[in-house]
Amino acid sequence: MAKGNEKAKSFQSPRGTHDILPADEVLWEKVRDSMRAISVFYGFERIETPHFEDTDLFVAGVGRNTDIVAKEMYSFKTRGGDALTLRPEGTAPVARAYAEHGMMNLPQPVKLYYLDSFFRHDKPQRGRYREFHQWGLEVMGDESPVSDAEVIRVFTLLLEDWNLKDYIIEVNSIGCPVCRSPYRAQLTAYYRSRLRGLCRDCRERFRENPLRLLDCKEERCAIIRKSAPQLLDKLCESCRNHFRLLLEFLEEMKIPYALNPHLVRGLDYYTKTVFEGFLEEPAKAIAATPEPVGGDNAASVDGGAATPAAAGDGEGPPPSAKRLAVFGGGRYDNLIELVGGKPTPACGGALGIERFVGIIRDRGKVPVVPKPKTFFVQLGELAKKKGFRLMEDLRHAGISMAESLGRDSIRSQLKVADRVGAPFALILGQKEALDGTVILREMSSGMQETIPQDKLVETLRRKLKH
Ligand code: AMP
Repeated sequence: MAKGNEKAKSFQSPRGTHDILPADEVLWEKVRDSMRAISVFYGFERIETPHFEDTDLFVAGVGRNTDIVAKEMYSFKTRGGDALTLRPEGTAPVARAYAEHGMMNLPQPVKLYYLDSFFRHDKPQRGRYREFHQWGLEVMGDESPVSDAEVIRVFTLLLEDWNLKDYIIEVNSIGCPVCRSPYRAQLTAYYRSRLRGLCRDCRERFRENPLRLLDCKEERCAIIRKSAPQLLDKLCESCRNHFRLLLEFLEEMKIPYALNPHLVRGLDYYTKTVFEGFLEEPAKAIAATPEPVGGDNAASVDGGAATPAAAGDGEGPPPSAKRLAVFGGGRYDNLIELVGGKPTPACGGALGIERFVGIIRDRGKVPVVPKPKTFFVQLGELAKKKGFRLMEDLRHAGISMAESLGRDSIRSQLKVADRVGAPFALILGQKEALDGTVILREMSSGMQETIPQDKLVETLRRKLKH
């Protein structure tokens, strides 16, 4: 509390973070329920890892020169001198857990999912937060492209379940160390004589992470990139076969995809497959936003992005819509070894929940909140006390209930009952509390009857059926 004439400071959530208020939770929980149900159906088990990890886990796993590690981590030293980092992504921690807990001894593949929040110190924009939530899927211990295809399929199933059918998947293969190192040399040779034409970031990327030159959004860099050598043409036989099979799986499942030879995803641990899923963002949502649209909007991703497959249900977005990255991932066959495990092929991906929820909301697909079936009205102290027993009976019977215990007048309580739309009110006064009865009021007609409390559940069940 503020003392004397000291003015109390009014606090806001830190920049780039947001509260999920009760009104938002309805949609968030529905979305998370869908994610849990789809994950479980496809054999993924939930894993939760700590919010922070050894900083070196991300340096070794994600890569020292990646944007995430070099620019975006919330790192700190503990009082004991440990170097820790708020997790910026979920794959390295899950790989660490797989290695640490000997999951390679379980039947393979081990399929894990997470629903967690992550932290990146990036410039906050529409759809880009400093603490954000992801639904992640990881398949560990399987080298077949069917796993890559399954991860992509499961993400797209969520979109389809929510009637978001105008998605497109961009896919690429960034090869393995065998084919990537000669390619990197060719790429570097190509860019060396063109350095002056690149943006400042790209000149830095040239030195530190040349593959990332391929996904720069600057126009002048895009022009230079057009004639750059492409890794897809230089894949070794094993990577080429893996990619070909993945595309065959996608075709078989009728998942709309486009090859994007410039998609690299900027994390060192990826091998072979990388992918990203995009949805159209309605123009009105973009116009309504005070912040510029995020830099990883695929409107700026070129390289053969095809028009999304027709949704076929006439619910497509308006023509001036932009595309928004909602999920991404890939294969990471060397990561588990890098963080202390045995060499284990694996793949996975993550979907941004803020972006998904934002799109659902912008398109008006928010689910209707179910109304409570009953409203409990009490009059007097004894009724308040006895009421808790009745509420428990309803809870055990699975009959939903709302109340306004803080209110005393019957009129004001019935007004709330009306507002929340409960079809029945249960009225408990001093008399009813004493003789073990309750008044059941049908809200639409105002008709009332007094019934014994031990017959309440049975009577309600019968009436609700009708
Ligand atoms: P990434 O972990 O960068 O591959 O991102 C996977 C997905 O998470 C993206 O497609 C976005 O939907 C979401 N995402 C990534 N970064 C952010 C962020 N800073 N704020 C909100 N969502 C994000």
